[in-house]
Amino acid sequence: MFVIASQSVRKGTKKQCMTGPDGYPMPATVIAGAQEGKTVLVTAQIHSGEYPGTPAAVNTAKRIDPLQVHGNIIIVHCVNVSGFCAGTDAYVPEDGGNLNACYPGDKDTVSGRIAQFFINEIFPHVDFVLDLHSGGMTESLTPCLFWPGIKVSEESLRVAKALDIPYLVQSFNRKGECGYAANVLGIPGLLLERGGSGLCRKEWVEAYERDIALCLNALGILPCTDTEVCDKKVIRKAVYLTAEEDGIWFPAVREGQHVEKGQVLGHTEDFFGDPLRTYHAEDSGIILYYTSGLRAKKGSSLAAYSLDAYTEDI
Ligand SMILES: [Zn+2]
Repeated sequence: MFVIASQSVRKGTKKQCMTGPDGYPMPATVIAGAQEGKTVLVTAQIHSGEYPGTPAAVNTAKRIDPLQVHGNIIIVHCVNVSGFCAGTDAYVPEDGGNLNACYPGDKDTVSGRIAQFFINEIFPHVDFVLDLHSGGMTESLTPCLFWPGIKVSEESLRVAKALDIPYLVQSFNRKGECGYAANVLGIPGLLLERGGSGLCRKEWVEAYERDIALCLNALGILPCTDTEVCDKKVIRKAVYLTAEEDGIWFPAVREGQHVEKGQVLGHTEDFFGDPLRTYHAEDSGIILYYTSGLRAKKGSSLAAYSLDAYTEDI
């Protein structure tokens, strides 16, 4: 019997359930493998407007035969359920909490209680965390992933190399679901990014299903035969460009584009068309994601790009 978060699942079976902190049910599937092995947590939509991970999680939960599984798989199909229902871009609507920045949470807010639920009820049973993201509603991105740069880097990077994602970015996040699990608690994991702009294209969902399958294969939980993947770049430093004032943003680059040092990344104007500021690349690199919508708000993300000087081809 595999027991997690008050759910008991007989070996060789799977169970659909609602899980989460009191009063905040999240749809999940718990798969208890017939054989011994590692336990992986797969989460989708901690950011509520990032959709492709959810159908991939649902399809994966349906497809997997627990009799073939070595270990256990916990799939939370949608974490930020209230944000999804309310149509928020990313955050938990009850308190504005960002589940990629609010760990270890607290008892007084919904986002804080979600964080504490994962810390207390889920993480103690888990050997690996796979967290599925996408570009936000006004964000375009090229497939990339973030691997923990403080703890458990080696095991996380080993699994990252087995996935079909070209850009592997080192992350020092300690306050998100995956970042806290890895960089604070020492549970290896990866934060994956595919698709964006509030869309949910079939090819992104299918690619995510394959990422999950490749991850399960790399962890020895469920073998998969099609393991051919793309060449990769390991990125140890990226630039996260933010807006210096409110304005209207006109990007001059696209996701996946290589930029040279000093190249214009975009500019802002006021509502009368007068220029405010032009943003330049501080060095050469690849645009990982950028704000494709019109709005620039002081302190908010405009673009993220890797730095060639800190990038290694593998
Ligand atoms: Zn996200």
